[in-house]
Amino acid sequence: MNIRFYNTLTKRIDAFAPQDPSHVRVYSCGPTVYDVVHIGNMRAFLFPDVLQRTLRAVGGYGVDWVMNVTDIDDKTIRDSAVGSDRWRSEMGVQTQDALANLKALTKFYEAEFLHDLAVFHIQREHLKAMPNATDFIPQMQSLIVEILKSGFAYVRDGSVYFNVSEYSTVHEYGRLFAIDTANFREGVRIDADEYDRESVSDFALWKGSKEGEPCWDFEINGQNLPGRPGWHIECSAMSRDILGLPLDIHTGGVDLRFPHHEDELAQCTAGYHEHDQATFWMHNEFLEVEGRKMSKSLGNFYTLRDLVAKGIDPLDVRFAMLQSHYRSVYNFTFDSVQGASAARKKIQDYIYDVKAASDNGYPSSTIGDTLRDAVFAELADDLHTPKALAALFTFMSEYPAASMTKEIAASVLIALIAVNDVFAVAKIEDRPLIEIPEAISQLANERWAAREAKNWKESDRLRAELTALGWTMNDGKDSYSLDPSA
Ligand code: AMP
Ligand code: ZN
Repeated sequence: MNIRFYNTLTKRIDAFAPQDPSHVRVYSCGPTVYDVVHIGNMRAFLFPDVLQRTLRAVGGYGVDWVMNVTDIDDKTIRDSAVGSDRWRSEMGVQTQDALANLKALTKFYEAEFLHDLAVFHIQREHLKAMPNATDFIPQMQSLIVEILKSGFAYVRDGSVYFNVSEYSTVHEYGRLFAIDTANFREGVRIDADEYDRESVSDFALWKGSKEGEPCWDFEINGQNLPGRPGWHIECSAMSRDILGLPLDIHTGGVDLRFPHHEDELAQCTAGYHEHDQATFWMHNEFLEVEGRKMSKSLGNFYTLRDLVAKGIDPLDVRFAMLQSHYRSVYNFTFDSVQGASAARKKIQDYIYDVKAASDNGYPSSTIGDTLRDAVFAELADDLHTPKALAALFTFMSEYPAASMTKEIAASVLIALIAVNDVFAVAKIEDRPLIEIPEAISQLANERWAAREAKNWKESDRLRAELTALGWTMNDGKDSYSLDPSA
């Protein structure tokens, strides 16, 4: 099936074809691990998950998918600094070694992130690598040396900066995002990892060391410049080292178009002489709350844990996100999640009924192909998940399980498995006697872990939370069972 995607680089929907006809190389900007990610961030990780699932299922491609983990930037340094307010006892005792502290903080939050990926059915097993930036310092330094050689960077006060105006005389700066060059502030240097589009300026490739920060030696022209990398150089060096350039697809949230992706692209052009770091650049829109981007700084955020504690199943949130196209804003409301939950339950019930109707029969019918083709056609059209879900619902109403022969049910079941391999919101199994919502099993698992660790206070708190949500946990010697309260 021919796949088409919107490409931020060309600003239109283009037919997709990877450079290697059987394999797609995808690089996704991952989390900055200074805290637990919120569900706005999760939208930016769900999007490449659905993308890679679609490339496999609809395109029949193999996918090499890489998502980096930013473990060194302004925020991870700030929050791991000695005496930081955000240091938590679970991360161990702070030492005098800034790098050891940074690693302790970032490994702690990386583990939390891996947990979130799992509960959100994002296929970590399909990630070829999740590189930490601090493991690729030599590659970043080589790239910086190459950019210096090209004449598009300069050393100032122990740091190295990208020279945007010099670069702009030869190459276009603003290929992903229309930048108002009238606002370019020549000679102004920006050290912060994030900055506004109103202040296009020379950005740091390498930041000279500051007291108390982790730093690495960097020999340039016989001179040592101890310091640490800027945020943008990380992705340029790691994407090239692990996947090779040009990538087939580079993903991230819309806010990464500028400066992060524009700067990644400029660095690759200047240092690797690759005109295009990626052939396709794909960006997801924001998840918003009451018209504003969900973000840590606005304080309007929920983590998946916050929602689970309210009894919300993470897969209902996944489903709710799939009901919006990735290039449209998704306005997060509890009503939308409730609606998603009801719709998801209908799909699950349909699967149970079709499975029962198939009775392990032989799939001698092509009706299942109708379903699969209808859903896949929408996914092939710029990953239109809302239309793909609508196609599934149309099929469900046209072909109720109750009126299916064994052979038709068996063929529909095969299609449901293929479709659910992309949506990943339902279980393909027989209807259980008691259905335990995912949020409840998660809370019960957490309580069991707390009990095993003899953390009685936490164990009691979680038991009370389960009771409030209408479930009783019966403790056995080595395991537990759950009952809905009468
Ligand atoms: P960060 O850890 O801040 O670098 O963000 C990780 C990813 O989440 C990036 O791709 C961001 O673009 C994305 N992101 C951050 N906030 C939101 C939001 N409210 N909605 C969608 N994506 C977001
Ligand atoms: Zn990146």
